[in-house]
Amino acid sequence: MKKALVCGAGGFIGSHLVKRLKREGFWVRGTDLKYPRFSETEADDFILGDLREMSVCREVVDTRFDEVYQLAADMGGAGYIFTGENDADVMHNSAQINLNMLEACRRRNSWRIFYSSSACIYPESRQMDPNNPGLAENDAYPAGPDSEYGWEKLFSERLYMAYARNHGFDVRIARYHNIFGPEGAWNDGKEKAPAAICRKVAAADNGGEVEVWGDGNQTRSFLYIDECLEGTTRLMRQGWQGPVNIGSDEMVSINGLADMAASIAGKTVVKRHIPGPLGVRGRNSDNTLISEKLDWRPSQPLRDGLAKTYAWIAQQVQIARQRGTAKAA
Ligand code: NAD
Repeated sequence: MKKALVCGAGGFIGSHLVKRLKREGFWVRGTDLKYPRFSETEADDFILGDLREMSVCREVVDTRFDEVYQLAADMGGAGYIFTGENDADVMHNSAQINLNMLEACRRRNSWRIFYSSSACIYPESRQMDPNNPGLAENDAYPAGPDSEYGWEKLFSERLYMAYARNHGFDVRIARYHNIFGPEGAWNDGKEKAPAAICRKVAAADNGGEVEVWGDGNQTRSFLYIDECLEGTTRLMRQGWQGPVNIGSDEMVSINGLADMAASIAGKTVVKRHIPGPLGVRGRNSDNTLISEKLDWRPSQPLRDGLAKTYAWIAQQVQIARQRGTAKAA
């Protein structure tokens, strides 16, 4: 039986990835600081531990894995990575995890490792236009990410590529573009735009107000979790290392996203624009390279994934209300 390791298995993408690998027949070990928040892990083995500690990484990689997925990182949405308040933690914690995990894998001959980079590595200067035509992989240089989160990701991409060059690692690097779906952060300050918007719409009365950060004309694309996992596992199993975008190329403004969520909810809402951390003005994924290399590209309409996500978040809002803990905005 093939063995897979998922680092960050208590997080959003990692917990879904564990379920997928189990369906595919893998024996799976998960590891994280915490268990998944919204459902029981399906991992065969789960090590609770801090991957900033080398001793923990060595305990986790005590056998040779066929596939290692390194998703653990100190991260969150714009409210977490663009305020500047968490910069030192974000850089230190995530870099330390990547340094340790590569070394632990090297010592145990686990060569095939997937690293989750981010669209946040792309230079700010290429994302000033809300009609962004799409970021292609070679737009990454000359570098100029707009957050320390992006700089750490870029450093770690290079670290993984250096381990491939010097130590024979079989690395795979994906640049995820805004992944969303059920069982993701939705009310703890680490939520991203789709979850935050769904929560605000779910909490609003029909005809009520929904707060949107900035003028709402900033654009993004959002990829549903199932397609993220499809791209991730496809990349892992073919012979090319990346980095490659794993993102949707259906760009939408944040105002458009709020309108879509309201229409899914069957509500009319009034958008109230308030100051908030915004990130770049326009971002989209150019999917030419992934189509070429994997003969596949994400294709699911945003609305389909948003409908599934809205249904889950509306349920969470209702549960929180019943418990008297709903955060409405
Ligand atoms: P997440 O925050 O839900 O998951 C990350 C997990 O890493 C968390 O469960 C956290 O507890 C764990 N972690 C953090 N520090 C740790 C430590 N010291 N030791 C052990 N575990 C630790 O995030 P996610 O959305 O699932 O993202 C997974 C990966 O994909 C991350 O590397 C993230 O940067 C990257 N990514 C995600 C997105 C997205 O839209 N979700 C976009 C681009 C890149």
